[in-house]
Amino acid sequence: MRADSDIVPLDKRAPGVAAIEPLIFPDLERLYARRAAKLRALTNEDQEDYILLNKEYFLFLSHLVDGQKEIVLQSPLSAADVATIRALAADRYGDERLTERLEALTAWQTAYAQLVEYLTPHLKPSIASDFAADLERLDVLSGQAALLLRGAYDQVDAGQAVLLWAALSVCWAQAMRQHDGVDGIGHATHCPCCGALPVASLVLGGDREGLRYLQCSLCETRWHRVRGVCVNCHSPAEIQYYMLYEKSPVQAEACDACNTFIKMFRLDYDPELEAVSQNLIDQFLDSLVEQEGFVRLGFSPFSFHE
Ligand SMILES: [Zn+2]
Ligand SMILES: [Zn+2]
Repeated sequence: MRADSDIVPLDKRAPGVAAIEPLIFPDLERLYARRAAKLRALTNEDQEDYILLNKEYFLFLSHLVDGQKEIVLQSPLSAADVATIRALAADRYGDERLTERLEALTAWQTAYAQLVEYLTPHLKPSIASDFAADLERLDVLSGQAALLLRGAYDQVDAGQAVLLWAALSVCWAQAMRQHDGVDGIGHATHCPCCGALPVASLVLGGDREGLRYLQCSLCETRWHRVRGVCVNCHSPAEIQYYMLYEKSPVQAEACDACNTFIKMFRLDYDPELEAVSQNLIDQFLDSLVEQEGFVRLGFSPFSFHE
């Protein structure tokens, strides 16, 4: 494995032509370490001014992701919690008692509390106490979690959503690891493991040169999708690529048939790219493609404040 990658190497023990893996599960510890380092790098003084405008926010996010890593290392999810989360996801959060079921699932609440504790030294006291107070209204917080899981992002308070998403995500990512009981992977627009939207599309390099995977915004799983076909409507013919310069590793794949686009990160051009942190800083490309009339398909977990 590349020292800077969280994508596990291809299993070379498989005989014959290597089959395309339908799912790639990340090494979570590496993923969080890498993401936190990328976020921290965005706060360096040599960054462009438009990036440094959000310096404080990126620093907050880097501590948040450090906290997620600590949770994976120190408080791994129990088998019972894995089963509960997989059951909620298999049902695509359709249970009308979802809020109550989330209120009974303490794993994400514990993660929320741990993240608050981890962040507190880095926050203004008033903000830290607001976050801590959220845990005293578990019915409300569970209702907000239900909205996030059902994709109703704009109905959740933006200030709360980033932390809540991070708490859910660190649990869901652990629950979906090595999940082999999922169907319909090859055609899925939403994550076949947990039902969330992709952050972006990745074209991999190395052993998997040229293969395209979508990366889940919630559970961090990557699932395979054939290239050159719209990830939303499956139309093969009307795809076009937008980029700010030729062979840029950051591109947007837009479909004229359904008018959606998804960001595409070419790891075969730049293996250093990390989807979640990268998505925060190249929004100029997004707005360019939106001006052309395309609607963004992907979801950026740390961009609730937009
Ligand atoms: Zn997922
Ligand atoms: Zn389409």
